[in-house]
Amino acid sequence: MYSISRKIKLVKPALVVKNHFINDETIPSAKTKFTCCDCSHENTIEIFPYETGFPIFQVYNEDRILSKSELLNNRMVTETSQRMIHLGDLTVNDLPTLYFGTGCQVCHSEYICVFSYGEKQPGLTVLNISGVWKYE
Ligand SMILES: [Zn+2]
Repeated sequence: MYSISRKIKLVKPALVVKNHFINDETIPSAKTKFTCCDCSHENTIEIFPYETGFPIFQVYNEDRILSKSELLNNRMVTETSQRMIHLGDLTVNDLPTLYFGTGCQVCHSEYICVFSYGEKQPGLTVLNISGVWKYE
């Protein structure tokens, strides 16, 4: 898992086995798989809360990696509601939102994963993966 430091072009979303995790399902990590669009290999991704990922702000700030409209049009994020706007303009599920880059283990195609993690309401902690997209 790595941060991305250049402008990228999205190709298409990959199939993700499980993208919604609650409470104990995220401890010590949320684990799922995505299918590579090119070679069909099932790659594992493992998200450790508070360790995995980089702020989504880094993606859309000055359109450095992707523009806000690219993020919105591909349903990677939605506009944050006013009461949670301190988290930034764009989030998944109005929770702190992060991203990371990862590669297919077999063919080395590159992917970006976007997810959020946080307490949705008292006693309910949620980790939502909005998706995994192939990029170039
Ligand atoms: Zn592959």
